[in-house]
Amino acid sequence: MSNPLIDNPNQTPDFQAVKPEHFLPAIDAAYDESMAIVDEIKNCDDLPTFENTIEPLEKTSRAMSRIFSIYGAFYSNKSSKAIEELYQPLSRKAQKLTKEIFQDDALAARFKSVYDARDTLGLDDEQIRVLQELYGEFEESGTLLSPADREELNTVDEAMIDFCAQYKSNLAASTNQQAFIVSQAETAGIPEDTLASMEENFAQAIAGISAGAKDADKEFYEELSDEVKQHLQTAGNAKGYLFVPERLAIDTLLGIAEDRGFREKIFNALNNTGTEAPYTNEAPIRLLQEYRQKRVEILNRGRPQNEQYKDYTDYALSKTMAGSLAAVEALFDEIEAPLLKRFEEEIQTLTEFAAENGQNDPLEPWDVPFWTERYKKETWGYDSKELSEYLEVGNVIEGFIDHASELFNIRFEENKNYSTISDDVRAFDIYDDKGGYIGILHMDLFARTGKRGGAWATTYQSATDGKPVISAMNCNLPKPAAGKPALVDPVQVTTFFHEAGHSLNMLLGTRSRYPILHGTSAHASDFTEQQAMVQERWAFEREVLKRYAKHYKTGAAVPDALIEAKLESESFMADRQPLLIIQNARRDFLFHSTNPSRYRNTADIHEKAKLDSPVADMIRPYPLTRFDHLFSSPQSSYAAGYYSYLWADTCAADLFSFFKDSSLYDTARGVALREFYADGCARTTHETFNRFAGRAPSTSAFRKEYGIDTPAAHSSEPDNKPKPS
Ligand SMILES: [Zn+2]
Repeated sequence: MSNPLIDNPNQTPDFQAVKPEHFLPAIDAAYDESMAIVDEIKNCDDLPTFENTIEPLEKTSRAMSRIFSIYGAFYSNKSSKAIEELYQPLSRKAQKLTKEIFQDDALAARFKSVYDARDTLGLDDEQIRVLQELYGEFEESGTLLSPADREELNTVDEAMIDFCAQYKSNLAASTNQQAFIVSQAETAGIPEDTLASMEENFAQAIAGISAGAKDADKEFYEELSDEVKQHLQTAGNAKGYLFVPERLAIDTLLGIAEDRGFREKIFNALNNTGTEAPYTNEAPIRLLQEYRQKRVEILNRGRPQNEQYKDYTDYALSKTMAGSLAAVEALFDEIEAPLLKRFEEEIQTLTEFAAENGQNDPLEPWDVPFWTERYKKETWGYDSKELSEYLEVGNVIEGFIDHASELFNIRFEENKNYSTISDDVRAFDIYDDKGGYIGILHMDLFARTGKRGGAWATTYQSATDGKPVISAMNCNLPKPAAGKPALVDPVQVTTFFHEAGHSLNMLLGTRSRYPILHGTSAHASDFTEQQAMVQERWAFEREVLKRYAKHYKTGAAVPDALIEAKLESESFMADRQPLLIIQNARRDFLFHSTNPSRYRNTADIHEKAKLDSPVADMIRPYPLTRFDHLFSSPQSSYAAGYYSYLWADTCAADLFSFFKDSSLYDTARGVALREFYADGCARTTHETFNRFAGRAPSTSAFRKEYGIDTPAAHSSEPDNKPKPS
């Protein structure tokens, strides 16, 4: 059987030719290829050197990650039951390879002899970083443990793959289970393209009823609730709307849907995902919690007494830029109280405003985005729907390309010849200012069946063995009906710039000659979110917006008054986002610090980790049962790491302030920022940051952006106060 995953390993992936049945043989072939390298290192008769041991060792995971990256594209962007079912066997095989390599005592001995002599071998900084990364792999894999402890670690690791698989499959099914029929009356205020998506969901569900239905449609129908199924069966061929949580940007919808009952329903549908039988996630995440703690306990057995991890949170933070829970707590302490104080005042304002405008019932969390929009319109004349008319997706893409080209002195050229995961995807070749080839960017922007919710960026192919890096950025914009414009709301534009920022990091971050140090691979998310979050900040700058925001019908440039209204109203309720991150992070930390014997259920954690404020409920934190960041893989870098979004946001504000305070496209700063991206993981996070800023990160720009730049903070501390770490 020909297999596109095996036959042409050096060609760009042919997504159209890959079928689910290709993955298992391909992963076996990748396994053998890697083990052949391992044997070669072990059979080498010469004394271990960096060249004959470390360099080949660095290559051992390449074949496997190549297959996994392509599998990831299918899993996230074009999934099906057949693809979902491959998660377990593929993950197990990858784990087996890691253990085979990093628990091999003969190999470890060769590695150790180079590692121990590292200061005498004349190695450069990058080679030292490679050694440190690999040392971490050996330690993580249990090399320092006794054979019995290793065995226990392997059992724990294997079980965690199963718990994650269970979590993921529950989440996918539960998302469909929470879907509900939307009546005509409930659609007030919802834009056409969103309605079109809901109509498509409905049609897909109806299609799933018939005997000859496609598998994907049948599976979708099967997972719907009995209530929805009954409705569909009596609906016949009629049209209708079916709301599926995760397939749409909920916050956007909460801001514009006029029917209060509908808002409450979408809010609850999201909250209840993963909580109802037969798809409840309480059990798999409880087990993950217990096994993560167990894993740390086992690793501790190989560590000296004074270097023991206290719990999973302590372990996870030891690998980050923040470095410790104390450093994160110090950041929270600095900004939480002033943000919360302002948020409480804003909620009071909104409560009064809603009452004046006819809502007599108390304000609920599903009302907050809606009344915020109204309040901004009445107070500053700002209407996000009006601005959306200037944000057609093609213009936004052009706008981003224009911005990134100028900032980094690079060039994008659309290339329609690449095979892509869906016909919706647009692919671009990227070149540097001297015509040198940088890599390929895939943009997959629209929601569809089989694509997971949210937005993310990933690497489809690493820059190894002469191949170009391929990065993909993914959003879930509602796909407009044929011939209609795809209007994007401002929040989605920010998300677009964010994910594109991650992709730029993956594309540009290949400076090191060792791919293990490329892109985002070796650094924690409190650093790798910075490259994404700093890009967001250009999106709505006056001069940038004026370049790309053109009316979808008339082509007219966005009026100055609308830009001013947007900028003036921006800070109202802006504090909700960092507070949401703090609230989510507290849940995450408490969950990962709790002794398993004292862990009762998620509701208990939610209650104990609640922000100390009467309006805490007005923030929509993520329920643990659908907190994908934490459970998408056994050792997700966001587990005990959700705080990263806040840590990185303060650093990104700091990075951006160098432009904001001089010129948005300052040439020298642009070069320096490109270097920041180009570093990838070739230096430590602090080194890369300091090289750009000339000092450690400061929260001062963040406090200024969020309007919590209290006079006290100014008078008692120098402007460039470094963050405690
Ligand atoms: Zn991100």
